[in-house]
Formats: sequence, structure tokens, C-alpha cells
Amino acid sequence: MPPVKLTDTTLRDAHQSLIATRMRTRDMLPIAEKMDDVGFFSLEVWGGATFDTSIRFLNEDPWDRLRALKKTIKKTPLQMLLRGQNLVGYRHYPDDIVEKFVEHAAESGIDIFRIFDAVNDIRNMEVSIRTAKRVGAHVQGTVCYTISPVHPIPLFVKMAKELEEMGCDSLCIKDMAGLISPQNAFDLVSALKEEISIPVDLHSHCTSGMAPMSYLFACEAGVDILDTAFSPFAWGTSQPPTETTVAALRGTPYDTGLDLFLLIEIKKYFEEIKEKYRGILDPISERIDTNVLKYQIPGGMISNLVSQLKEQNALDKYEAVQAEMPRVREELGYPPLVTPTSQIVGTQAVLNVLMGERYKVVPKEVRDYVKGLYGRTPAPISKEILAKILGEEQPITCRPADLLQPELDKVTKEAYGLGIVKKPEDILTYALYPAIAPKFLRGETKEEALLAPKTNNGKAAAPLPTEFKVEVDGDLFNVRIISTGGGVSVRPAEAEHPKTLDGAITASMQGMVLKIKVKKGDSVARGDIVIVLEAMKMENNIHAPHAGTVKEILVKEGSTVGAGDTLIVIG
Ligand code: MN
Repeated sequence: MPPVKLTDTTLRDAHQSLIATRMRTRDMLPIAEKMDDVGFFSLEVWGGATFDTSIRFLNEDPWDRLRALKKTIKKTPLQMLLRGQNLVGYRHYPDDIVEKFVEHAAESGIDIFRIFDAVNDIRNMEVSIRTAKRVGAHVQGTVCYTISPVHPIPLFVKMAKELEEMGCDSLCIKDMAGLISPQNAFDLVSALKEEISIPVDLHSHCTSGMAPMSYLFACEAGVDILDTAFSPFAWGTSQPPTETTVAALRGTPYDTGLDLFLLIEIKKYFEEIKEKYRGILDPISERIDTNVLKYQIPGGMISNLVSQLKEQNALDKYEAVQAEMPRVREELGYPPLVTPTSQIVGTQAVLNVLMGERYKVVPKEVRDYVKGLYGRTPAPISKEILAKILGEEQPITCRPADLLQPELDKVTKEAYGLGIVKKPEDILTYALYPAIAPKFLRGETKEEALLAPKTNNGKAAAPLPTEFKVEVDGDLFNVRIISTGGGVSVRPAEAEHPKTLDGAITASMQGMVLKIKVKKGDSVARGDIVIVLEAMKMENNIHAPHAGTVKEILVKEGSTVGAGDTLIVIG
């Protein structure tokens, strides 16, 4: 049997999972050459949340990062995670944008495109797969792993076969929640090895604690590639450790043949780097969360639920929501819980419980999902729910992107009109993130400050703001708790707002102001929507907690806000 190969995720998924995708390029480059010497199958360095985070928080151009890494890493293929028609954003983009993006990514240094779709609808992956093939890249077709009555092994195998027929060069089992058990890994990999001839990669997370064991069983079944990360950035919600995996497989038929001493040298570097980010590393993401085994929902989604319930002052409904979640997932056709379907199911479950009537309130994203705009669901959506949400309207059956008009010409004109185009990729950055890209491309984005590590002498000067993470498929959303009463608040200057005003409505999570529905002086009734906040990739309506007059509006449409920031004051 050929030795097992490793894809190292330290520069993408691992820091996305543990430190909210905040690792800077300047912390990657000094070690890049050594990493190149290891002999990894590939280095995952781009895509996922790295694009968004770079322009939103780091004042870093993601394209420049890719080119800089490519310049240093000359031997090892560079890999990215691409969300099919969603690219590195959160909505479906038209085909012309998808094609342009893939072309530029390949040109800038991506050799391997790992392409997935949240509902495993291959139609949402077609254009990116075809384009990546056309530009000569290696395409890793991806199956999102989940557990449900409509996800038997043959279904995953069927999808894998289709991906192989489409020309994919390898196949990835994407176990984003760390749910795959050793036996399931063995059975699934065995079935795949029997039915397809392209290499099989297992990508898992340590969230439930099973991943290292599942990796070993996957080896026994003939897996070709495993995803790991250097130990300082492994475990918890991240991947199993690279050095440990190499050592564990030594002397077995799956020996990776990699130089353990070199790996340990690199590990030392990342230990130091980890210290720099200690302030944003939350113990929550570092520990094993076996709740995922009971509820089959990613650990981070539980934190997500807690924060949504806290926001509504309804933490006592926590158990009810947990019970509601599997029910909603079943009614919505058992989607794998991965961005964005995890937010769709989670938010609807919260609303069903809070409103006291199921599906009384349905967010736009849920309606779109039910309408078929995210693709074909694994099982049909419950007829009753379909009728309740859509009424007479019929869901679409075509490929969702077929309904989208080409956008490239339009965004090109807009971007030039805004005077923000210095290189061709800037147009794509703008096309993907029209709300935040102009500010970034004008050079007005400030690099977020690193939070000082907590001191161990128990005498920290002031309570530091803590930032905890809500992880969904390794995409970490920051939820910041800003200490009250004059504590240190480390955040970009533009987000400094008075914190305690009478009648103040504050943001309970980090997000972006999408719409302001009121003007200063307007009278509002209790429950009126005053602001629409985009947080955790969903549109969240912020309601007036009581009747009154709008005294002050402290944010603008497009403003980024943190937890605790005052948005509006109603007197
Ligand atoms: Mn992952």
C-alpha cells in the first residue's frame, strides 16, 4: 500500500478554527520555506474565511498573501477551500464572477482547488470545477459528511462517482463537525476506494475527540491523504496534529515517510506564533466538545444558539431549542450543517421556540433556502412547511445560479467608478465584498490590534475584553464581550461608541449594519424593526425594546459593530 500523504492546514483551517483566522502573512512567511521542505501533499493556505478576514480585520490583501506564499513555497502545491458557487463569500455569485475568480486564484498561485457545496448539490460546483480544470489546476471534489437517515454511505459514493466523472483529480470527505466515527470512516473510505479510482482525502476536526482514531481507521481502509495541522494549532476545533500523525504511522504500511525532526523544528516556530495570538485563543475552541455526539450539531453552533438566546434574554429556552433543532433540520430536508445551512437551521429553531409558534417568523435566508435558491436539499422539504412558508409560490428546480444575471461588467464599471482598482483582482475583491472592499482598497482599513495575552500572575491590570468564537464548519465568527465599567476595550477606533446610555440598543454580537430603518426624531412602537444587522451571516432584525422617540443613531449603514456597541438610542 502506498504511504499516506498529508495536507497541512496550519495556514488556513487550523488558525481559522482556533484564532478566528487572524494569523498574519508576516507570521507565515518566515517558516514557509521550511514547510515547503517537508514534502506535504499540499499546504492549505487560502480560501474559507481567510479572504474575508484579511480585508475586514487585518488590512491585508488576500491576493498579495497568496503571491507572497507562492514565491517562497516553490515545491509544495498550494491549496484553497472554495465554497462552490459561493467562492469565498456567503451568497451565490453569477457564473462570470466564479470563472474570473478561479482564473485569478490559479494565476496567483493556487494549484489545488478543494470545492464543496453546503447541500452537496453538484450543480453549485459545476462552474468552479470546470474552470479550475480549464486552467490546469488539480480539483479536489468534496463531499460534505453528515449523519442523517437520508445520508447512507451509497449516497456519498454516488456523489463521489459523479465528481470523478466530472474530472475531479481527488476526492475529499469533508467532516466539518468532526462527527465521523472510526467505523464510519472505515466503511466510507472502503466503499469509496472500491468505487472510484482517484485519491481519497479525509478532512476532519477534533471537535468530538474522535478524529485521530478515525484517521487511523481510514488508513486501514486505504485513505490516501489526511489533513493535519502543526500541534500548536491542532486539537480542539482544529485538525489532528501533524507530528503526532507522522509518528503514529511510523513503521506501519501507512508510514508518511516525513522527517519528524524537521516537523518538530517547525512546530517550535508555531509555538512562538501561538503565544502572539494567545489573547484571542479561547479555551472553548481548544477543548473537546462531546455535545456534538448527542446533538450532531457542531460544537460552535451550540455557542451560536447560546448567544442568540442571550440576545433575546431567553437562555431558559436553551433545551427547547436544542430539541427543536433536529426537528427543523428534518423538515428542511436534512441539510449537512455547514455554512450557510447551519445558520439557516439554527436561527429558525431559535425563532420557532421564541415565537411560541413554529415558522411564525421566517428569515429571508430560510425562505430562500426553502425556495430552492441554495440548491436541491438532500430530502424533500416537508410539504406542510413548504406551504406555510411559500404559500402559492413554487420552489425553483433549476440550478440556482441560472437565475443570476452576469455581473462582471457591472462591478468592473462600479469599481473603476469608485476609483479603487489598482490591479485586476481588486475588481473581484469588490464583487465579493461590496460593503467592505471599498474602504479596504482605499487603504482606510486599520489592522485590528492583537489582544494582549492574559497574564498568569493573576494580577492583570484590567479585565480584558474577551472574544469567543462561534464555529460553524471551521468558519469562526467572533462574538466579543466588551468588559463594562471602564475596562480595556481593544478595537478599531471607528467602533468606539458610548456604552451605557439610557434607552440604548446595543449590538449583542459582532456584525455589520445592513440597514437603518429609522431616522432621528422618528417615533417607534415596541417591537418595530429599527436596524438590520448582518451577523453570523444572517440578517438579524433589531427591534425597539419599548416605544419612544429615536434620540440618536450612532452607526451608519455599512458600519462594523462589536458586541456591546450602542447602535441607537430610543428615549
Ligand atoms: Mn474544516
